[in-house]
Amino acid sequence: SVAILWLRHDLRLSDHRALAAALDEFGLIVPVFVLDESDENRWALGGASRWWLHHSLAALGAALRKRQSELVLRRGDSVSILRDLVRETGAAALFCGETHEPWLRSLTDAVEKAVGVPVHRRRVSTLFDAEAIRTKSGGQYSVYGPFARACRAQPEPEDPLPAPQSIPSPKRMPRSDALDDWGLLPKKPDWSGGFDTMWTPGEAGADKKLKSFLKDRLDGYGASRNVPGDPQGTSMLSPHLHWGEISPNQVWHAAKQAADRKKAKSGWDSFSGELLWHDFSAYLLRYNPEMPEKPLRAAYAKLPWRRDKAGMRAWQQGRTGIPIVDAGMRQLWRHGWMHNRVRMITASFLVKHMLVSWQDGEAWFFDTLVDADLATNAASWQWIGGCGTDSQPFFRVFNPVTQGKTHDPDGRYVRHYVPELKALPDRWLHCPWQAPQSVLGKAGLVLGRDYPKPILDLDRGRDRALDAYRKHVRGA
Ligand code: FAD
Repeated sequence: SVAILWLRHDLRLSDHRALAAALDEFGLIVPVFVLDESDENRWALGGASRWWLHHSLAALGAALRKRQSELVLRRGDSVSILRDLVRETGAAALFCGETHEPWLRSLTDAVEKAVGVPVHRRRVSTLFDAEAIRTKSGGQYSVYGPFARACRAQPEPEDPLPAPQSIPSPKRMPRSDALDDWGLLPKKPDWSGGFDTMWTPGEAGADKKLKSFLKDRLDGYGASRNVPGDPQGTSMLSPHLHWGEISPNQVWHAAKQAADRKKAKSGWDSFSGELLWHDFSAYLLRYNPEMPEKPLRAAYAKLPWRRDKAGMRAWQQGRTGIPIVDAGMRQLWRHGWMHNRVRMITASFLVKHMLVSWQDGEAWFFDTLVDADLATNAASWQWIGGCGTDSQPFFRVFNPVTQGKTHDPDGRYVRHYVPELKALPDRWLHCPWQAPQSVLGKAGLVLGRDYPKPILDLDRGRDRALDAYRKHVRGA
């Protein structure tokens, strides 16, 4: 008999527990992806995510065809589409992956009520079962350290499952939309040229990224993860993990084996810690569904955020006059991705120096990141904003010049993304406004003409933020 496999953020065939369970119990599988834009949430897919999704679905469709199956694409209201597909195929059950996005969880409940057949959910996108990670008194963790310790005390994540050799499908598959008709790719202007050079969406692309990272880089990860100018300092698996083209279990086990082989204990400790941050963000969202919109600490609700249209545009376009901030924002625009250290610096600059709300920054990242993830993005912006459950204190303000000098000492990162500063000596690269005229002249640079003057004074911006915090955060 037939089962429907409803795919969402789990666009893969290997280590897919919902697919494996469906194959165990049912002979014939109908894999379906529904592009549901009827949902009125403000977190509709951003532009970069749409680009990724197009290519990822194309890759998944090809992988299914190799296994005598095909991907059914439908656009519209998930509830009615899945109800109709169950009727049309005579399916006796629906299988899907567990999700942590609140709207997707309620949508799954609504589908369950409507389809009239059992709906089976399996964990596909976290290492540990959120229900099993409880404090001694049975509550939820709100701080990363104890959460991570509780995870590490659990039995190891299950061994990954191989992709099935074949996925039998009914003789007559339901009709599918043509992917190209969905218009997920950018029209004119096409901003995605820098995406093509960096990414191969799909399971094979994810596997390649994982293998190349584990081959050379895991040992030094503890240090290299903080060097944005090192193009292989981190795994760059985040969009693949977000779309579920690879499971955290697969990454966990492969990294652990590589670390054992190379005796790279410290690399493993830091890397597995980041994978647990990924689980922790999902966990936080699951138990705090308002996290993308509201500060988790209510005391922060009254901060007097500024509306600064021109400043916001300068930040988005990488034209603030602060080199490390501009390099990061340009990397984001060009490749749909930004190094973690620089995400922290650019976010802190917006929220603290510019005093623009973390929600505005969160929305821009959500639109432009290929790894835009409701949970991790919200948790990270709240962390920077000081209002998350587990946060950088608001009064600790990243100084972008010091950060630049520490993490990009040879200027490799800034020179790559802000080439107009290329000729400046290292000493002045992160603070061109402090360079003597003679140095600027020698580098052929006129500030305000070739590169912007800073949009604000860093000391004054910092003081303004601290002032607002003292006055408006209850109990500060
Ligand atoms: P690696 O260093 O190789 O880490 C491996 C994996 O661990 C990552 O792929 C990711 O899944 C996870 N991970 C790493 N760092 C973090 C972290 N700080 N929090 C949670 N998980 C982590 N990450 C997203 O996936 N989507 C987002 O929308 C997102 N928004 C962010 C916004 C801000 C303001 C900040 C400061 C961070 C954000 N991050 C986000 C977290 C982090 O920057 C990225 O996960 C990381 O840069 C991805 O690169 P990588 O795959 O090479 O990471």
